[in-house]
Amino acid sequence: MIILNKKKLFAMLPSVDEMLSDTRIEDILKDYPRSLVLESIREVIDSKRKLIVGLDDEKLEKFTIEFDEIVESSLESVKIKYSLSLKTVVNATGTVIHTNLGRSLLSEKIKDDLWHAASRYSNLEYDLEKGERGSRYSHLTETIKRLTGAEDVLVVNNNAAAVLLVLSTMAKGGEAIVSRGELVEVGGSFRIPSIMSLSGANLVEVGATNKTHLKDYEHAITEETKVLMKVHTSNYRILGFTQSIEIEELSKLGKKYDIPVIEDLGSGVFIDLSKYGLSYEPTVLDSIKQGADIVTFSGDKMLGGPQAGIIVGKKKYIEKMKKNQLTRALRVDKLTICALEATLRMYLDEDKAIEEIPSLKMLTYSIEELEDKADKLYKKIEELNLDATIKIEDGFSQVGGGSMPLETIKSKVISITPSNINVSLLEKKLRLSKSHIIARVYDNKYILDVRTIFEDEFDIIANELKNIKL
Ligand SMILES: *Cc1c(COP(=O)(O)O)cnc(C)c1O
Repeated sequence: MIILNKKKLFAMLPSVDEMLSDTRIEDILKDYPRSLVLESIREVIDSKRKLIVGLDDEKLEKFTIEFDEIVESSLESVKIKYSLSLKTVVNATGTVIHTNLGRSLLSEKIKDDLWHAASRYSNLEYDLEKGERGSRYSHLTETIKRLTGAEDVLVVNNNAAAVLLVLSTMAKGGEAIVSRGELVEVGGSFRIPSIMSLSGANLVEVGATNKTHLKDYEHAITEETKVLMKVHTSNYRILGFTQSIEIEELSKLGKKYDIPVIEDLGSGVFIDLSKYGLSYEPTVLDSIKQGADIVTFSGDKMLGGPQAGIIVGKKKYIEKMKKNQLTRALRVDKLTICALEATLRMYLDEDKAIEEIPSLKMLTYSIEELEDKADKLYKKIEELNLDATIKIEDGFSQVGGGSMPLETIKSKVISITPSNINVSLLEKKLRLSKSHIIARVYDNKYILDVRTIFEDEFDIIANELKNIKL
């Protein structure tokens, strides 16, 4: 009897051909690959078949096969299969330069420039004046000169690559002197000593972890010394009894012995952000002014541009780097060059840079602006009448990206404590929702830091909260 019933149900399942002749499936075939549509249909029918096999007597009686539901499930499945794995998320963590969430965001103002560079031919490596081959790096030279006073510029994949290229060009087979206090590891396993050995330069460590004096560098100089290197320890601090040599003193020493001085700044800062209440970070301009021959930094940390490693400094060294075979392997594409040029151009007007470069804007919000954002988000959530305690509270954001590790910036957050479900379940549901909201859980509260949330995401957040039905 049961077997008979199940057979009947199996027979009622639609065939793939029947499915394919449904108008909704015909429609979706216009926009999605046939292979994915077929795969989805087969999977949905198959899952129904398995479901029937597992049914007990009682459930079997009530079981029905809805053709429409099978079609809808198939459509849904096709869309999920075809969606990109790299998805937009809402960053409600308050960490501005969040490496896991894509670090810096590009300004909306440059989207047309980017699209043109992507979809049209360009003078990427073509000198329009001379009508002959040009250099892809030339597009950045004028702006970098203006902003930093450096003679030349080269851009590679990221700052790790920049350090590798600089050392490989300037110190291979020789010695590079670095303070023990600066032999850092940066997130994602970038270690100065490892990069050093990869480049073929021999690391000469000087000083102690907490203290390095100028004479330590001086005593270590030999015939083999190719560079003096300073690494900005942006992602940690040694506090207390410490001493390190500033780039100005190190540069004087370099000049005395005719040895080039390089500085890995990590985060590329162009504006002194202490004016906006953040702690002082050395700017690229300062480093060049104080005598560094070569400076390297990331494009997507405090600079707020695309992922890139930027090398600026003396033309004679950069010319040599351009001839290094590694440069070809670490080459950046036109989208990076375009995004970088367009972002750097904004820095020509400091106020404009602060206003239009998302990372800078987020880092420099006034507390009134944050209060205003918090009020707006609070109202939208309050209207939902959720079964939860919702408050506006003081909170702390972080710069992120390994920058200013001790810096916590005052912020405003919305805290949600659900009455009926566990707060970590709420976090999970929102993370896995269509809008992928990423936030912190702290002290049994779900914390939305408004610093990193765009205003047009307020409705999205409210909508997802509504769907969860707290
Ligand atoms: C972040 C950082 C790097 C690595 O930069 P990426 O652009 O992530 O490759 C290197 N050096 C320092 C000091 C850094 O802070």
